[in-house]
Amino acid sequence: MQRLLAGRGALALRAVVGDDALRDALRDELDALRASLADAALPPDRDALAAHVDRNLALRAERAGKRRLRPVINATGVVLHTNLGRAPLAESVLDEVTSACRGYSALEYDLDEGTRGHRDSVVRGLLRSITKAEDAIVVNNCAAAVLLACTALAAGREVIVSRGELVEIGGGFRVPDVIASCGATLVEVGTTNKTRAHDFERAITERTGALLSVHQSNFAIVGFSQRPARDELAQLARSRAIPLLEDLGSGALVDLSVAGVGHEPTVQEAVLGGSDVVMFSGDKLLGGPQAGILVGRSPWIDRLRRHPLMRALRPGRIVLAALESTLARYASGRATSELPALRAITEPVERVEARARALRESIRAHGFNTDDTRGGHAPVAVDLSIEPTIARVGGGTLPLAELPSRALVLRAPSDDGQRRLRAIERFLRTECDPPVVARLSDGALWLDLRAVSEREVDDCARGLARALAASHAIGELDFSPPLPGAVPDTDEP
Ligand SMILES: *Cc1c(COP(=O)(O)O)cnc(C)c1O
Repeated sequence: MQRLLAGRGALALRAVVGDDALRDALRDELDALRASLADAALPPDRDALAAHVDRNLALRAERAGKRRLRPVINATGVVLHTNLGRAPLAESVLDEVTSACRGYSALEYDLDEGTRGHRDSVVRGLLRSITKAEDAIVVNNCAAAVLLACTALAAGREVIVSRGELVEIGGGFRVPDVIASCGATLVEVGTTNKTRAHDFERAITERTGALLSVHQSNFAIVGFSQRPARDELAQLARSRAIPLLEDLGSGALVDLSVAGVGHEPTVQEAVLGGSDVVMFSGDKLLGGPQAGILVGRSPWIDRLRRHPLMRALRPGRIVLAALESTLARYASGRATSELPALRAITEPVERVEARARALRESIRAHGFNTDDTRGGHAPVAVDLSIEPTIARVGGGTLPLAELPSRALVLRAPSDDGQRRLRAIERFLRTECDPPVVARLSDGALWLDLRAVSEREVDDCARGLARALAASHAIGELDFSPPLPGAVPDTDEP
């Protein structure tokens, strides 16, 4: 123990995790060692064992020193990838967040009056002017927004929802369960494919707390189908003095059909169409931080603001700073050019292709000959090509939209080649800094460039060059297949 504690590995680990965790780690290592020696045939060599433990402690130090929440390069072709944190923040937004959060900030302080202010007012003005809604509040995420609205406006009462909208958004967010957890009773109307305003009208009683409309974010019903028109539901709700709540999810503030991406209902449409409370995420099509935003008519929003749950669901200043700064890009008309997610979604495919070419060039610049991927002595050649792909918006938005894209594709058809591709994929993910998340499918490794920014191309190339070089030492790599689910290739919003 004494000798090991003085070793380089132990010293490195102590510097990262402290004395107690070092002792725990050392005890684990010694236990593992004893277990593995229990049935060893030869007597152990003390120096070799000490070196072995020291190496393991050094590895632990290296791993412990890395942040869990590390930046990664998203080469999956899914722009708003929920497993990878959805919308990246703009550089200029981050600068403003840093300056707002480094010291104190006027979070709940009215500088004009010198009195207590409200954190609501940080983004309320911007949200009102951008969405044309009367009032606005912000909570932790869109799920929290729905929870707050249904609890505050319909607890102990009934919420009417179309059967075509009793959806699961992902990660356990199922509309019927959310309504139940609010202490409200779900009343289903219509059918899976067709629901009319008349179905809602017949279901309204004196027990009705709200009408709820949920955007079919991550799927589409096509063919013989019908949803009630928003303005009919709005009229109905108003005539009975109950609120029409609309869970919009993605929260587009600009019409993406202009860029040829496809139509996602915008927040402005929902507000103008008469929904009383419109709820949406901050980190989907809005392109900002995780947040849930509620905009709508004053009397309803004000009831939400004063509900006790509000305090539990409100965001902190880091989120509010990022949201204010992101919304300011909309106010100045620069959202599509400055917010990375919107830029990635609307960018012409020629620019994506230019990055794919730059990536291939850069691999060469990092010392890897892309014309001879055998590298002289590798057992299996890997073929590198630039090919058309279809990228996705992701985040459960625009499920049918196909974004034309380009990928750098690695192919190696033989069995050994397939093992080599799996090794490269794994190396990119586990050994590169920043890690590169690519996609293995149809026997090839795809690096889609749509969600890879220009400033990431060089890091990506360096990672690939190293991965290709490492995969030459084919016998030394661990070729076990990637852990199930380790490569997020499905998009759960
Ligand atoms: C994504 C989504 C949600 C959940 O939003 P979070 O911000 O992830 O909580 C809720 N409703 C709809 C319709 C969605 O698309």
